[in-house]
Amino acid sequence: MERTPEPTLEPTFERTIATRISAQGHDDTAGIARIHELSDEAKTSRARKAAGVCVGIGVASLFIPLVHFVLPWLMLIIATIVYGKVVKQGAILLAATGPCPGCGARLEVAEQTLEWPIEWNCGGCRKRTLTQPAIAIATGIGEVKQDTTEAS
Ligand SMILES: [Zn+2]
Repeated sequence: MERTPEPTLEPTFERTIATRISAQGHDDTAGIARIHELSDEAKTSRARKAAGVCVGIGVASLFIPLVHFVLPWLMLIIATIVYGKVVKQGAILLAATGPCPGCGARLEVAEQTLEWPIEWNCGGCRKRTLTQPAIAIATGIGEVKQDTTEAS
């Protein structure tokens, strides 16, 4: 029992950054995004859990006639793929908001795995918007940090 509480989302890894929201045919608007960077421990824990679900499905399928010839093996392969994918996810987008470049309505991007640019369809005008960090991330997301104070 070396494992005590689960590595949940530690607040120290959370930060707010300034973003630029763009939509085709409109001027960019400024927004903000709250992101949570995952520690290495959290990354492997998430990956293990995701892979575990796949293995679980594979094991459960052992009891289904015919399906059990294929699915368990397939799920093992999928589990390794999922593990490799999830373990690479470095950050989670907790929330992103800002005015829609098209209609000005407030965009409320839901929590998801962080991947720049964030695609989001405006609820007001149905336009596809792209949210990116306001500062080019040439040297990685960590460099964006200093500019968060100027977000407003
Ligand atoms: Zn809109």
